[in-house]
Amino acid sequence: MLSVQEAQQAILSGIQRLEPETIDLAEALGRVLAEEVVSDTDLPSFDNSSMDGYAVRAEDVREASPDRPVRLPVCADIPAGHPIDLLLPVGAAARITTGAMLPAGADAVVPVEDTDDGARGASPLPAAVAIHRSLKRGAFVRYVGDDVRRGEKVLISGAIVRPAEIALMAAVGHSRVQVIRRPRVALFATGDELVAPDQLPAPGQIRNVNEQATAALVERYGGVPIRLGIARDRLDAVTEKLVEAIEQRADLIVTSAGVSVGAYDLVKEAVAAHGSIDLWRVRMRPGKPLAFGQYRGVPFFGLPGNPVSAMLTFEQFVRPVLRVLGGFTRWHKPTVGVILLEPIESDGRETYARARVERDGDHWTARLTGGQGSNMLSSLARANALVIVPDGVWQLPAGSAAQAQMLDWPDEIG
Ligand code: AMP
Ligand code: MG
Repeated sequence: MLSVQEAQQAILSGIQRLEPETIDLAEALGRVLAEEVVSDTDLPSFDNSSMDGYAVRAEDVREASPDRPVRLPVCADIPAGHPIDLLLPVGAAARITTGAMLPAGADAVVPVEDTDDGARGASPLPAAVAIHRSLKRGAFVRYVGDDVRRGEKVLISGAIVRPAEIALMAAVGHSRVQVIRRPRVALFATGDELVAPDQLPAPGQIRNVNEQATAALVERYGGVPIRLGIARDRLDAVTEKLVEAIEQRADLIVTSAGVSVGAYDLVKEAVAAHGSIDLWRVRMRPGKPLAFGQYRGVPFFGLPGNPVSAMLTFEQFVRPVLRVLGGFTRWHKPTVGVILLEPIESDGRETYARARVERDGDHWTARLTGGQGSNMLSSLARANALVIVPDGVWQLPAGSAAQAQMLDWPDEIG
């Protein structure tokens, strides 16, 4: 029997990131950069004002104070987005808005609040303005290249594209982006008892939960689900879906059910005809044996049939593969230390208990969300975390400390 960590390592040992593709910046959120990004411009690209106010020469307002304002004639109006070609005369001011070009000769901006200009919005240009304060040279001016220099490397290959990276790439004009391709994951469920979720199950039938659940997990972790539906418990039906997965250029094949001891032979025979497959016994609960192998060279997972087992097995074993294929270097689920509000029982296998983790002052607490049967979905829906009872531990008493995997926190935290 393998530990969860040993199984993860063995599975990941054969997995490498996929090749890059070039996409629009607007599509790049959450992807991994496959190139470094170099700025085509200085940022800011011209000296400009950081305030609405009056551009001046600091020297001209050196003596200004609320009691003894300095009065300057207003020689120009400079709104943002309108280029100017002006040398600010000595002893004059120019009205300026945030982001507008600083005129030559000016070296500071007096915020409008520090003048006698009480006008808001569009208003006629005053003939003169009283300045109520002195300023250092450079005050409220944003100079060329303060932020980024032209030719500077601003992002490294391997960076995860967050809104901040999107913003930076937009600012440096990088509108097409090379990222690691998203893994294509073919999904199908096996079982004679399954009907589609929009059907009313006849006696003995159940709705196909796993295909929906695994498709959602694939999307959450950056893959593209290819939904192939249901294969009945027949060799030719399973083989047909496997062939379809290959035709659809899947990078990964994930099936559910048909790998428990009774039914395993079916999936095994279908996969092994053009690949290889092993039943992995992992010391993990919930989680029946996990089938892992390859079909025509494409990695293959056969998840347990019970939906919670399928989903938690996916979290521990398929998610890391998806992350690595997608170019991510971190794939551990983020965990926090929690104090248990109730005891948790185990059978000695590493147990993932559905729980609600909440912040209580300076620590986190965890409470189970209900029945822990591997078919029981409602306790998973109420959970935001999985409390881990370590391998070889039979009980964690109330009040004890444990680690909890946070289901909804992004993997980048881990
Ligand atoms: P098996 O692995 O085929 O022995 O199935 C184990 C349990 O999971 C059985 O109760 C199945 O009815 C159930 N099951 C199998 N496939 C699905 C599915 N796609 N959605 C929901 N439950 C399933
Ligand atoms: Mg079955």
